[in-house]
Formats: sequence, C-alpha cells, structure tokens
Amino acid sequence: MVTPQPGASLFIGLGNMGRPMALNYAPGHELFVFDADPEVAAAVAAETGATALADLASIPSHVRTVILMLPNSRIVEHVLWKEPGVLNQLALGSLVIDMGSSEPASTTELAREAAAMGIDYVDAPVSGGVAKAITAELAIMVGGEDSAVDRALPHLVPLGASVVQVGPPGSGHAAKALNNLLSATNLAAAAETLTVATSMGIAPAKMLEVINGSTGRSQASEVKYPKHILTGTFDSGFAMDLMLKDLNIARGLIDSTSSEAPVLLAARETAQRAREMLDTPHPDHTELVRYYEERSGRPLRGDRTSERTHA
Ligand code: NAD
Repeated sequence: MVTPQPGASLFIGLGNMGRPMALNYAPGHELFVFDADPEVAAAVAAETGATALADLASIPSHVRTVILMLPNSRIVEHVLWKEPGVLNQLALGSLVIDMGSSEPASTTELAREAAAMGIDYVDAPVSGGVAKAITAELAIMVGGEDSAVDRALPHLVPLGASVVQVGPPGSGHAAKALNNLLSATNLAAAAETLTVATSMGIAPAKMLEVINGSTGRSQASEVKYPKHILTGTFDSGFAMDLMLKDLNIARGLIDSTSSEAPVLLAARETAQRAREMLDTPHPDHTELVRYYEERSGRPLRGDRTSERTHA
C-alpha cells in the first residue's frame, strides 16, 4: 500500500537505473520526469503516466521532492545550479534526494547550500544494479540530517529492499564508493583465481561451483560470473567508466584519511589498466575479465576463446 506524498515529485535521470526506479516510484505520486534525452523521458512518461518536462527551466511550482539519478557530481551540480538550476526554483521546505553515486565532498557542499535555502538534501545511493532496480530490491545507503532522512524514507521504500542510514550528508556517497571498491576487488580477485584454476585444468564454471559453495564466494562469483561473464554477454548494465568513477572517489577517501589499503588500491589500478586496454567505447564493468584473458591467454568464459568481436 503506497502512502500518497504531499506535493508532486520530479525524477531526473532516466538511464539504466533511473528508468526502472521511476517505474517503481510512480504509483502513489504525482510525477514529473526529465532526462537530457527527450525520447527517454517521453518513453518513461508513457509507461508511468508521469508528465515529461521538456527542460528544467520551468519546474511546476507544486513540486516538493526531486530525485536525481545522474552520472556524476559535475552533472548534479549543473542540474541543481545552472540555467536556472533546480534549487533556485524549489519552494522552501522542499526535499532533494541524490540517488546516483556522487562525490561526498560535492554532496556535503550541496547539502549545505540547500540547507541555507531551507531545502532538505539527502544522499541515497544504491547498490544492486539494474536487476535490483527493476525488482525494487535495491540496497539504499543514506546520508543526511535525521529530519531530512525521515522525510526521504517514504520516497525510498518503494525502490529498495533495505535502507541503511549511514550518517551526515555525504556519508551515503562515501559508503557507496567504498562498497564499489570492495566489489571491484572481488571481481578482480575472482578473475585471478579462475585464471590460476584454468592453468591447473579446472574449468571456470567448475571452479565457480567450488567457490560458491565455499568461503571465497561474493556477489561477483554468485551473480556476475554466471550471468554476465561466463555467458560472454557482459550485459550487467553498469558501465566500466561509472565503476572507475566510484573507484577514484574511493581512492580519494583512502588518500584523504591516510588509510592503509594496498589490496583495494591495487584493484583500482588494475581496473584502470583494463579500461585503457579495452577496445570498446563503452565497456561494461564485467569486461574487466577480458583484461585478464588477454594477459594470460586463458579464456574465462565457458568454452569460448578470449577473442571477442564487437559490432
Ligand atoms: P546511465 O548513463 O544509464 O543514465 C544516466 C542518465 O542521465 C541518462 O539517461 C542521461 O541521458 C541522463 N543525463 C545525463 N546528463 C543529464 C542532465 N544534465 N540532465 C538530465 N539528464 C541527464 O547511468 P546509470 O547506469 O543509470 O547510472 C546512474 C547513476 O547511478 C550513476 O551515478 C551510477 O554510478 C549509479 N549506479 C549505477 C548502477 C548500475 O548498475 N548501472 C548501480 C548503482 C549505481
């Protein structure tokens, strides 16, 4: 049962994640949607009964909640402040929720600026990828003042299986970057493990069966390898460039806190090298495995070879 929320909502950023999230959010809300690609916004409007905005220059005055699912902090800052900017148009007492994976320092500053305008600001990034966005089972980690987080909760519940309040503004985004660095480390470590296993005559699928019944398992071994890597489809819907953005944010957190994290930093460097090697313009993050295949000459996908052509 969806509790109707006061005022209308505006969902900005309708890509791989934003589109299914907007679909799950729409019931019970008067919803406006916007994307830089007007065809995408029109399609989501048609699917949800929402109204697509042609631009962000005249946001309806009764919009009280804005949800952002945008690629990065520069774009979030642009949308919130430039020409003429979402924040300048929102009424006192409105709420902005940034659900993308942004930079904690930028988020902290935006939350401070919004607070000075009487607008609540919450960072609520998500984990679980496109699959969990579709089934509304995202893991949501929330940063913000307690009162703002309380207001945000009813907007998050329709999208996630879990909502964890992490701490002050920016802490949700810090937690997200760190989680993704650990996740990328697991992805890389599994590729290295499978590479050695194949050298010992153990097929990748067989080694994964062992790992997934043993203590080495992770979401990478349980989901990414069987669904997106062994199949050779590399279709998780999470771009390698977005993953690298997260890894670079996490590296900044490691540096700024003078933390000891050699294993995590090695995983980031490996992912960076993989990105430089990959020949496709927009590789999926699971294509990290292609880097290992290329270097070792040992295929890690079913019985396919390491060669792959791209349209
Ligand atoms: P995406 O590239 O598929 O979608 C981004 C959307 O934002 C696009 O539709 C694009 O047209 C739109 N956009 C770009 N600039 C805009 C602007 N100025 N105004 C309005 N719309 C604009 O990205 P995604 O995979 O949906 O990821 C979105 C965010 O969620 C990122 O921060 C990403 O790191 C994070 N994230 C992604 C995943 C995943 O599995 N894909 C998982 C968790 C978190």
